[in-house]
Amino acid sequence: MKILRPAIVILISALVAPFQAAKAAAPAGVTALRCGRLIDGKRAEPIENAVVIVEGERIKEAGAGLAVPAGARVVDLGRGTCLPGLIDNHTHVMLQGDITAADYDEQLLKESIPYRAIRATAAVRTALMNGFTALRDLETEGAMYADVDVKTAINRGVIPGPRMFVSTRALAPTGTYPLLGYSWELRVPEGVQIVDGADNVRHAVREQVKYGADWIKYYSDRRYFMKDGALHSWVNFTGEEARALVEEAHRLGRKVAAHAIGRDGIESALKAGADTIEHGDGLDDELLDLMVRRGVYWCPTIFVGAYVAEGRAAAGAPIWKTMVDLERQAFGKALRKGVKISYGTDAGGYAWTENQAKEFAYMVRYGMTPLQAIHAATSVAAALLGQEADLGSVEPGRYADIVAVKGDPLADITELERVSFVMKGGVVYKQE
Ligand SMILES: [Zn+2]
Repeated sequence: MKILRPAIVILISALVAPFQAAKAAAPAGVTALRCGRLIDGKRAEPIENAVVIVEGERIKEAGAGLAVPAGARVVDLGRGTCLPGLIDNHTHVMLQGDITAADYDEQLLKESIPYRAIRATAAVRTALMNGFTALRDLETEGAMYADVDVKTAINRGVIPGPRMFVSTRALAPTGTYPLLGYSWELRVPEGVQIVDGADNVRHAVREQVKYGADWIKYYSDRRYFMKDGALHSWVNFTGEEARALVEEAHRLGRKVAAHAIGRDGIESALKAGADTIEHGDGLDDELLDLMVRRGVYWCPTIFVGAYVAEGRAAAGAPIWKTMVDLERQAFGKALRKGVKISYGTDAGGYAWTENQAKEFAYMVRYGMTPLQAIHAATSVAAALLGQEADLGSVEPGRYADIVAVKGDPLADITELERVSFVMKGGVVYKQE
């Protein structure tokens, strides 16, 4: 064994060296950011005339009027507002908008996975330049494990992009998820990993974790309809299957995101023990109370609902318009009850040319204060990810993921659609 050891060390360093060389290395010295105002992601009040001291890839100090250390590189952001890097907890970097079923099918049938991955490299660059320094990407929609490859390319400095928390293929049972409606003589791609039966669900979770899933995503429901004044849905998995899915994910240290829109799908997901509810249009008092008691997070993805409603209504599904109104009501109730609401947009469900920061204005219109909306995309979003020690606030010890806008987002939340400065891990990616 002893004889072998030096050889192993050489081999490992030979493997690691090229990655390190390619990585966007944090500047060795100290950088001081001067901000007219700092919203640190946690406090109720901004800090005026703040200085943020960055050493390597992390924040060393942040506060009002701090002395700039001798020899530090100074970035003067003038009267601008600095904030923690924004976090979007519901994206699809492998998707380029799917307002209609035809849009979706076209991508899966006519675009190869390599081509979709190339497009994803543009999507992640766009996200970063818009100020999103971390994404939870909630399934590849038929592009297998290519999200893991995009994440690896970002981490190795091959391409610029946010920190990625990926869920790979998502899970749904036979016949519940596109592609659907083709001749049984054809084998067409699946938008998810199709799986039936509790044991197979466990196997699929293990497989996804094996290939790099940070999260497990599944589709709890489909076919949304109104009955007795409530939004209902068809539940995809049996209770036994859903429980097996969550239990196996948790056993492997992964949390579970459940796509759940109707009250039936949401109830099933909460009973199974899902950690986050995605979309959640049909949330009512009873379900919201259950979420508060269990500490379950909600990603409402408001903008995409409004964005796709017209197209889907025109294609024969007017329920999508009703869901926009229902979600607005649910959002108001959730705020009053103290449900943990995280920023999540479903970007990719709409084209990446739409700035994913547009969700902020909807959250404010639906009842949040601008500061609450900012916290939803910073400290609350980081807590959903279990990353609050590293992300979501401008505090000593956190990664230096910091963005800035020229105006005051507390006065006009749409300022966040015009991010002028982006730093991730101490590296400046954008400075206007
Ligand atoms: Zn989605």
